[in-house]
Amino acid sequence: MPYPLPLERDETLYSGLARAWTLAGCPPIQIFKQLLNLPCKHRIHSYLPAYLQSIGEIITVSPEVLLMRHTLYPIFACILRNPTELSKSMFGSGVPSPTLLSRIPHVGMHQQYSMKYCPVCADEERVTRGFAIWHLVHQMPGVMACIKHKVQLHSLLLGDDGLDRQFRMVPRRLEQKIIVSSPIAISVATAAEQFLKFCQGNAPVNVIKTVIQPKLASLGMYTNAGYIRLAALKTLLIDTYGSWLECQQDELPLSWRQFEFVDTLFREKTGFVSHPLKYALVFAALSKSSDMNTTETHNNKEHSTLPTEQVLSLAARGISLNMIAKQFSVSRCKVRRIVELGGVKHASNSLSYAPSLRRSAVMKAILGIDRQSIAASLNVGIGYVEQVISNTPGVSSWRSTLKHNKKVKLAVEALRYLRDTHNDLSRTQIREKLPAQYALLYKENKELLFSLLPQKKAPIPPGR
Ligand SMILES: [Zn+2]
Repeated sequence: MPYPLPLERDETLYSGLARAWTLAGCPPIQIFKQLLNLPCKHRIHSYLPAYLQSIGEIITVSPEVLLMRHTLYPIFACILRNPTELSKSMFGSGVPSPTLLSRIPHVGMHQQYSMKYCPVCADEERVTRGFAIWHLVHQMPGVMACIKHKVQLHSLLLGDDGLDRQFRMVPRRLEQKIIVSSPIAISVATAAEQFLKFCQGNAPVNVIKTVIQPKLASLGMYTNAGYIRLAALKTLLIDTYGSWLECQQDELPLSWRQFEFVDTLFREKTGFVSHPLKYALVFAALSKSSDMNTTETHNNKEHSTLPTEQVLSLAARGISLNMIAKQFSVSRCKVRRIVELGGVKHASNSLSYAPSLRRSAVMKAILGIDRQSIAASLNVGIGYVEQVISNTPGVSSWRSTLKHNKKVKLAVEALRYLRDTHNDLSRTQIREKLPAQYALLYKENKELLFSLLPQKKAPIPPGR
């Protein structure tokens, strides 16, 4: 029996079914699944659901529309070598499992399988539409922020709790806090959305071959021998997304922060498929960069006629370089160059510490002086000292060697003192009195330890 169910834009199939179940008066789950011709223990995946053919017939939506608009299939169709296997499984009974075919490693992202929603979107939708939906773009693995509201997504764990066997509407916000998202999570979410939109319009095409490689070529990122300039690509990614260290805990895997993953992304021979978010990040960064390249060539004329006099007079009046750059839509670097060539003094970056100060901090750190004392003697914060120590190669490991040597020295002194003040102690008694020092020297330098201990005594035979 058909049960027409118009799905909203960007709504997941699960979300539509949850609404239908609620509208039907929340009947027992098994009965509702029977109506949909689903096995009663079937789990409905949040973004790669199966049984699209039979569900589509019942809710009177074409299975192709369900596949392309209400699941994340388009993304996998653009990155997998053989996406037909996946679509077959999703149209049919989900065997072999779509998650297996998509090779999506949640564990690789250090994130659990969950269904995500934006609490602000949900509140707004309840007012305007009367109900909130599970958005498809929020379900993309690795996306942790809502672009519209710039807040962190909330998530409900799936899997063990069996939530995907039930039909759950987006929960109402009770005590949950709304947390502003980090800029990096937002730019990652933006990249993911851009990639999803591209894939929805173009799937199934091989995104590496049809988009990424031509863009790399237009940006001059190929060597003469035809290899990709991976270092340049990594620099571009770091410039686009910035330092991942700024992102909040658990938002994104820190192991991705240097974008080392691009090495494996282009490995064709192994047929290795990476996490979809990695493709999205590279896709969005390259699109942005090639767009900028084309606008730059269009605007070349304007750039050459940048009014130098006006820039200099604005800078002389104390207008910030950022404001000037915005006014003439040029980079801040360019404005800075003009201002410096024109001999106008500017206060840009004037709060940064002098290089000589950094050098003295490094010297003191190498001498093994503790961080508090370095900070006090140079009149800087301890945070700056820690930053210098961790940023200068080799200093941190050198300091731990110094610390270890100091420990050994103290242990030698302690043993020597005990031996000299208590002549009657035996080797065993000394070991019992100073067990930590004894163990340290035993591990570090046995000969030194034995040279410090008193002469061995002859064993006393039993019974005397
Ligand atoms: Zn939102």
